[in-house]
Amino acid sequence: MAFSQRSWPVWLTLCVLLLWSNFAAAQTSTVLFTDDFEAYAVSTFPSSGGWSVYATGATVTNERAVSPTKSFRFTSSQNLGDFALHPITVSPMASSVSIEAWVNPTRSDSNNAIVRLGGCSGGPSVRFDPNGTIHAGDVPDNDKYRYPVSATYSANIWTLVRVDLDLVTFTYSITVNRVVAGTGFPASSTTVPTQICVGSDNNIVAGTGGGTTVYVDDVRVEEVVGSSPALFTLPFSVGETWYVCQGYNGQISHQKASALDLSIDPMSPGPTGCGSGSNASTGKPVLAPADGTVEAHIPYQGEKNILCIKLNGIAVMKVGHLTNLLPIGTRFNRNDALGIVEAPSKGNGGYAHIHLQIQDLSDDCKQATTIPFSGQYRFEEAPDMPYDDNGTPKNYKDDPTNQWSGIVLHRSR
Ligand SMILES: [Zn+2]
Repeated sequence: MAFSQRSWPVWLTLCVLLLWSNFAAAQTSTVLFTDDFEAYAVSTFPSSGGWSVYATGATVTNERAVSPTKSFRFTSSQNLGDFALHPITVSPMASSVSIEAWVNPTRSDSNNAIVRLGGCSGGPSVRFDPNGTIHAGDVPDNDKYRYPVSATYSANIWTLVRVDLDLVTFTYSITVNRVVAGTGFPASSTTVPTQICVGSDNNIVAGTGGGTTVYVDDVRVEEVVGSSPALFTLPFSVGETWYVCQGYNGQISHQKASALDLSIDPMSPGPTGCGSGSNASTGKPVLAPADGTVEAHIPYQGEKNILCIKLNGIAVMKVGHLTNLLPIGTRFNRNDALGIVEAPSKGNGGYAHIHLQIQDLSDDCKQATTIPFSGQYRFEEAPDMPYDDNGTPKNYKDDPTNQWSGIVLHRSR
């Protein structure tokens, strides 16, 4: 069909989706715990918020605060730190966990603030030390200054500190006032933390009198759950850019199916399906998205131009509309050529394109319910593309048509 002014909305949508796709592969962050200490009475210990005493002396105060009007005050003495614990529950799927807090110490000539993932005797943490220095704190007491970070603090000024623990490598980084000040510090154990500890360390340097008072506010613990890796690579050559010109639940074909038609012509996504550039993709090599075996050649409109491939342990994929098909029974590796895009013909609706759909391995090559290119079944470098059933799974006629049409697929690796 002809390219027309109706394509403008398509291009606008395309730009939005292109932006969106940059975030689709991002990881999701979840707040596990947060406390601004506003809910407690002044001079009490915040037990009602789940905090427990590790060393006595801490209370909620209204002397200083970031989120008005209260904070958590700790006063250590020369030989005794002052700390509080709070439990956290990190998801087994989490790839990292972080603690962030504002701290405000009353002196900078002694050990003082500690913000830690883990218990009060050890764990990935940040500690304020003599002469305004800051150190990574998951070290034995006799090795306190092993890991300095590239940031300093001043007494009586609020400083935002953050510890990010990588739960794959069990290394952690420290951020001070939103600037990364050190990375790759080794955690002393590979146990996922089940609590946090905040407080004021022993005043071992400044010596006599008074101890160190530290105010802590707006404690926040977050975890990041990593998305599962994409199992497929895009089925065309590195450096190429293709366009979804007909998407899921299409109007020309793909009714109810999570199938995609790709064209190399940037103007190809039309209002109802592939539009301009009917010959643009002809002869382009189509590459295997994963390792597998050719199971069958399936006819469409009388031409055997669809390859049914079994991708090892993943899914069955139907890839059309090709010529030079790999023979049935051929084992192939990811990126091996499966065939080349057929010129416009009866067997591809008069439009050269790559047709893609997947189904469960147990369905083999027979006609079956399609699986959307979503979650682990997405293509690397492509957005996550779930099927939108409009909340009515049994009625595809009210589902949005041509879902994901206009998406730009660029392969860079
Ligand atoms: Zn198709």
